[in-house]
Amino acid sequence: MSVTRTFLSGADVVLPDRVASGLTVVMEGDRIVDLTSGPRELSNSERRVDATGQLMVPGFVDVHVHGVMGIDVLDGATAVASVARELSRFGVTAFCPTAVACSPDTLSGFLGSVAAARSTPEAGAARVLRAHLESNFINPAYSGAQPTEWLWTYEQKETSGVFFADGSTKKIPDIFFSPDVGILTIAPEMPGGMDLLRAAIKAGMRVSLGHSGASFDQAREAIDAGARHATHLFNRMSPMGHRDPGLVGAVLSSDEVAAELICDGHHVHPAVMRVAIAAKGHGRVMAITDGTAGSGLPPRSCARLGGRNITVGDVARLDDGTLAGSVATMDRVFSTLVAQAGQSLVEAVLLCSTTPARELGLIGQGVIAPGSLADLAILTPGLRVVQTWVGGRTLHPVRP
Ligand SMILES: [Zn+2]
Repeated sequence: MSVTRTFLSGADVVLPDRVASGLTVVMEGDRIVDLTSGPRELSNSERRVDATGQLMVPGFVDVHVHGVMGIDVLDGATAVASVARELSRFGVTAFCPTAVACSPDTLSGFLGSVAAARSTPEAGAARVLRAHLESNFINPAYSGAQPTEWLWTYEQKETSGVFFADGSTKKIPDIFFSPDVGILTIAPEMPGGMDLLRAAIKAGMRVSLGHSGASFDQAREAIDAGARHATHLFNRMSPMGHRDPGLVGAVLSSDEVAAELICDGHHVHPAVMRVAIAAKGHGRVMAITDGTAGSGLPPRSCARLGGRNITVGDVARLDDGTLAGSVATMDRVFSTLVAQAGQSLVEAVLLCSTTPARELGLIGQGVIAPGSLADLAILTPGLRVVQTWVGGRTLHPVRP
């Protein structure tokens, strides 16, 4: 007889309001159907997985990740699916595959691999959400590791179209306003930036402010027009001065905007992480990795970001030393929030799971509760992931 119910027993379970000791989470199909305490006899169609002494959290939702374990999401037709498989090792149950600025052909291929991974998901792999384009429409002065040869302004390209290798020409909306794009990062101060922002919002996309030198007033105009997301707050944007609040000040002082925060302990000082969380509240901060193909690899490993070489250290760097994203994984982000930024387990779950899920409108994700999807991570007391469940399925065996 096949197993119809799985009882995950004995873990300390992080619920939205507390950590409950020794709870049993009952999974049936792809859902959590019950939370119980105390053992009971199981039938032949039920199984128990012992998680005594461990910690159970809702699976992590990373809204900004370029790759992991040597794979970049721009690496070809199966790259996104491969990243989905590997991310589940680190407790991630859903993620936005994130592309740096790239050629139209590369972008088109990437969105094809996102669509393929979404239409035929692998059981137990992290769920592939709509893509995040960090995008061609950012400010070159704040581009960081983004290749400047692919940075455009909206009017130029809207007028001329974008030429594909097969000889076809497409207008911007045909490429960027795809059903497989969820988040579009824009520098609103660039020529045509506000026109693009309004068009993207009208097309149902979530516009994120980032890689931008926007003044406070320019940022407020963008927020008033509907921008609701900020790409890695503090990194690659106009900083906050007490007389000149810049984009950082606009995001910190605007309740309607949710901010990504790279919580690897290197991109943002833990004290500044605390300041940002205090200003925005746990309901408006999304902890991210901004992870690259170097994430999960040992120090001094080489990998690729959008076709360029990066080397793994405390962070990822291009050959010229430019900071090029992180080498973090979400389990490290979670433990950094707890160990370095003074967050409780309940608060760290809000930042890593609950808030990103809610901001993206994911129903039944980001919390452990009856009726929600069975997307869970089981961690050691030292906060190392030993098992991840996605829709009640697990891909990787329990680590010793
Ligand atoms: Zn990034």
